[in-house]
Amino acid sequence: MSETSPDCLFCRIVGGDVPADVVAESEHSLAFRDIEPQAPTHCLVIPRRHVATVGELADHPDELTDAVVLAAAVAAQEGLDDGYRLVANTGARAHQTVFHAHLHVLGGRDMTWPPG
Ligand code: AMP
Ligand code: ZN
Repeated sequence: MSETSPDCLFCRIVGGDVPADVVAESEHSLAFRDIEPQAPTHCLVIPRRHVATVGELADHPDELTDAVVLAAAVAAQEGLDDGYRLVANTGARAHQTVFHAHLHVLGGRDMTWPPG
């Protein structure tokens, strides 16, 4: 598996070729604001290394853990003490549109259930 994929938007953000509003960083992960926010707070947490889905990231527990820990740190940093939603759309049918694994951190409004 390659470390980066030249045609991947999120690899280009990791590499600094595409600008992003970075809110936090860790050893294996990067967090930045979603360009089309679906809630008052909407950040994405991605592994620095290219993997297509969260399912593949699960093969690397250290990186998966790092991403979830950073997502929790972002939620705390953003003041989402009364709740937030951590979402990993996985696969086209689940509305994954960027095939570089990512966690959405959504908060700042009431969430509904079930999700659409
Ligand atoms: P998903 O549909 O789960 O694959 O989520 C992809 C997310 O990436 C969407 O919420 C997009 O709004 C977001 N997105 C796409 N391009 C950018 C970008 N250049 N910077 C930040 N977020 C982006
Ligand atoms: Zn990538």
